[in-house]
Amino acid sequence: MSATSTVIVGGGFGGISAANTLRRLLPPEHGIVVVDETPDFYVGAGKTWIMLGERTYEDISRPRAELLAAGVRFLQARITGFDFAKRTVATGRETLGWDHLVIALGADLNLSAVPGLAEAAHTFYTVEGAERLRPVLEDFRGGDIAILIPGVPFKCPPAPYEAAMLLHHRLGSRGPGGKARIAIYTAEGAPMATAGPEMGQYIRNELAQRGIAFHPQKKTVRVEGAARRVAFEDGGEARYDLLIAVPPHEAPAVVRNARLVNPSGWIPVDPVTLEVKSISVEEVYAIGDITAVPLPGRYKPDMPLSLPKAGVFAEAHGRTVAHRIAAKVLGAEPTETFDGKGYCYLELGAARAVKADGSFFDLPHPMMRKQVPDEAQLRDKLDWVARHLQPPGAIPG
Ligand SMILES: Cc1cc2nc3c(=O)[nH]c(=O)nc-3n(C[C@H](O)[C@H](O)[C@H](O)COP(=O)(O)OP(=O)(O)OC[C@H]3O[C@@H](n4cnc5c(N)ncnc54)[C@H](O)[C@@H]3O)c2cc1C
Repeated sequence: MSATSTVIVGGGFGGISAANTLRRLLPPEHGIVVVDETPDFYVGAGKTWIMLGERTYEDISRPRAELLAAGVRFLQARITGFDFAKRTVATGRETLGWDHLVIALGADLNLSAVPGLAEAAHTFYTVEGAERLRPVLEDFRGGDIAILIPGVPFKCPPAPYEAAMLLHHRLGSRGPGGKARIAIYTAEGAPMATAGPEMGQYIRNELAQRGIAFHPQKKTVRVEGAARRVAFEDGGEARYDLLIAVPPHEAPAVVRNARLVNPSGWIPVDPVTLEVKSISVEEVYAIGDITAVPLPGRYKPDMPLSLPKAGVFAEAHGRTVAHRIAAKVLGAEPTETFDGKGYCYLELGAARAVKADGSFFDLPHPMMRKQVPDEAQLRDKLDWVARHLQPPGAIPG
């Protein structure tokens, strides 16, 4: 085998999974480099726990270098550009040549996309935001909490609903009930819309049982922090004492500048091979949150669906592209494809969670099956998080 190389930009769920799987499949002559601008990997699911003061950043993170298999080089650097003609990636530290390129840069969060939002809102979608929110919640003595989802898509569609229920449990158990009124305002038509009406109704029922108000199809136009008011496109408004937002998501500027995104704002890929469709250069893949993966099925004829953004999918994408690259390097026909299957956990508070398994390429629409919530599924989620922080090869290849 002549010396070839794969460069993986982004060392999150997808990047680590791709690198470790590829390292297992190919001999050491094939160079593998993972580039990420930050030194630590962390599990996004732990951010609600940071918000609630149940975990620290150290509990949910680990240096990336420790999570990568021996023989994978980690370069801590910022990706600054792509030259597809020369097959190179520019970083703040060096320029890397590649035979195979995997783009796994995730989604950037941009509170400034909505006027007034950055100044007024807290968020648990970033570690820093969750850390800032923790003492605010500890001191919260009652009033209206608005959980705002200004736009779609956003990663981990159950997360804001889970956060609402965990907050309800926490604030309800602190003192006399009824002091905190929680309401969710979302641009979505229903919770976890891609998972289907049954899942949506299930979450709505869980919210209703807790007295958490749910307001769908509320597209935010601006936030007036001084008046503690959110204005919506339909002319309605919401008043709050504490505003917690899911920041609008966008593809990192470096891929937008490289014109890799389509009008949806994300990188279009072949749904099963993850090859990038916006350029005609071979051996360029995109995986995870940064992609737009169209789904074949629909619930309504006029409403196309995309694969939700979640770590489990980024990881599965990583495994798929690693197998395909390995096959090509070894001179074989790639056969591995992404099957559209994944799962998520929804914590309900009171030490219970529900796991939902989804098959998103099914026809006539995605299928999602959930179990009856219990403590065992919460333990499952805790194990899932812990497994991702075990080096090396904790993320199954
Ligand atoms: C509150 C919350 C709860 C969640 N819970 C779950 C859950 O229970 N299950 C689940 O499956 N998913 C969950 N997720 C979603 C999950 O975290 C993401 O979907 C997942 O991280 C996506 O993986 P990725 O590899 O595509 O991107 P990321 O993991 O975001 O990795 C992208 C990497 O690229 C790097 N990067 C970006 N731009 C540059 C640049 N220019 N130069 C260098 N490096 C760069 C970043 O530093 C980052 O490390 C949750 C998310 C949140 C916010």
